Amino acid sequence: MTVAAPDTLSTETRAALAAPGKLLIGGDWVDAEGGTFATHDPATGGVLAEVARGGRGEVDAAVGAAKEALGRADWAGMTPADRGAVLWRIADLIEAEADVLSEIEVLDQGKTYATARRGELPGAIAQFRYYAGFATKIHGTTIRPSIAYQPQGRQVRAHTLREPIGVVAAIVPWNSPLLMAAMKLAPALAAGCTLVLKPAEQTPLTALMLGRLLERAGLPPGVVNIVTGFGHEAGAALAAHEDVAKVAFTGSTATGRALLDAARGNLKKLTLELGGKSPALVLADADLDLAVPGLMRGIFANSGQVCVAGARVYVDRKIAGAFTDRLAAEADRLRLGHGLDPASDLGPLIGPDHAAKVAAYVEAGKRAGAEAVAGGRLAGEGPAFYRPTVLTGVRPEMALMREEIFGPVTAVTPFDDIDEALALANDTEYGLATSVWTESLSAATRASESLRAGTVWVNCHSYFSPELPKGGHGISGWGYENGAPGLENYLETKTVCLSV
Ligand code: ADP
Repeated sequence: MTVAAPDTLSTETRAALAAPGKLLIGGDWVDAEGGTFATHDPATGGVLAEVARGGRGEVDAAVGAAKEALGRADWAGMTPADRGAVLWRIADLIEAEADVLSEIEVLDQGKTYATARRGELPGAIAQFRYYAGFATKIHGTTIRPSIAYQPQGRQVRAHTLREPIGVVAAIVPWNSPLLMAAMKLAPALAAGCTLVLKPAEQTPLTALMLGRLLERAGLPPGVVNIVTGFGHEAGAALAAHEDVAKVAFTGSTATGRALLDAARGNLKKLTLELGGKSPALVLADADLDLAVPGLMRGIFANSGQVCVAGARVYVDRKIAGAFTDRLAAEADRLRLGHGLDPASDLGPLIGPDHAAKVAAYVEAGKRAGAEAVAGGRLAGEGPAFYRPTVLTGVRPEMALMREEIFGPVTAVTPFDDIDEALALANDTEYGLATSVWTESLSAATRASESLRAGTVWVNCHSYFSPELPKGGHGISGWGYENGAPGLENYLETKTVCLSV
């Protein structure tokens, strides 16, 4: 297994890593009073770069810059068409720099280059192009109210205005850093908001590079501010800030709950994209040539560090043996290594602590009777590698079946009929996503209506596109991203009544 960073990094990547990490506030790149902190390559544990450790003071300055930009003529007065054009230029610039951005994402996050370059970069570009089109299609409605206005003889006419909600705090996680940032920036900018973006402390590098691209695209200063730093410092200051109107968050359910508390002061609006414990149902008539590779991606892509990862697989008992054997064999075949090594199928987890947490879930499961038919162990080389793991013999009450592991671990459970399968799948507080594998239209329809989740995939898993609303039921979140509902998060409605 190769875990050393290949020495073939592009000149652009080397330059980006060597540039001192600063914060983007009001159009200037500035140092943080708290100094810097190191970001690591999770495959090697080596330091990649030093970035600024933003704290309360920098958050104040960044929110102030965003507030000032919100009403400034160069942003608020920009025509919707011009705003859309800026978004489209951002997409073009990301596309032009996609190789370097992918390389940096791999180094900082650990994912494979293919995952970054073929999956996440096109996703980020698509976000900006999709919402670029929305900038010119935001409008209110005219309304004839039915209640008469006193004094007699006067009538009421009304219309609504759609206005940007204000300063947005975009707080994003480390699993898909650039894509997650794009999912928040694109609709917020289309709506005319201004933002402070806080990338995760583990993966700040692509956000900083994006900041340079936003400037080149012609976004006025202060419209997007970028504060790197820790969750309990910069993140908490941002979440509690009285001048932030809305927090757009993706991350853990625990942090989502902390954000609810932080939002109390000025009753910020929140969208929370939180954790999951996503089930996959494989019915007896499923095409296993589709289901096995589809679920391999759906479970193990990004080393399972995906909120919708298929963490619980329920398979009709008639095919459970054949399915599990194939899944385990495929999992055993995956090669672990540095994400920049083209031979690697999977990279490391985000860090050694996280790998230990994943291992602890599996060990506890084994002690309670689960069997690892694939993996079930740390990979031994590099600080954070864990073998892709398929467990059998699990029970619904085990922690590994109830809590989000966020690693390359799934558990296969047989079922005898679809009612049992649906009940098992819905036996969770989470409700993020599910998949159903079947050739039967009626079974797929019934399952999609009965499963409690924000997304139901049929014969696919982990498919995303900016047009498709994405959100969580239960403790998986509040609100929706993507599609038209994704834009609504960033708009307020103002009703104007005219007595005429
Ligand atoms: P994980 O536990 O998987 O690291 P988190 O939900 O803690 O995921 O992190 C997601 C994002 O939330 C990161 O940008 C992190 O810095 C930020 N964050 C963590 N704690 C807080 C907090 N108390 N307030 C605001 N942001 C936070």
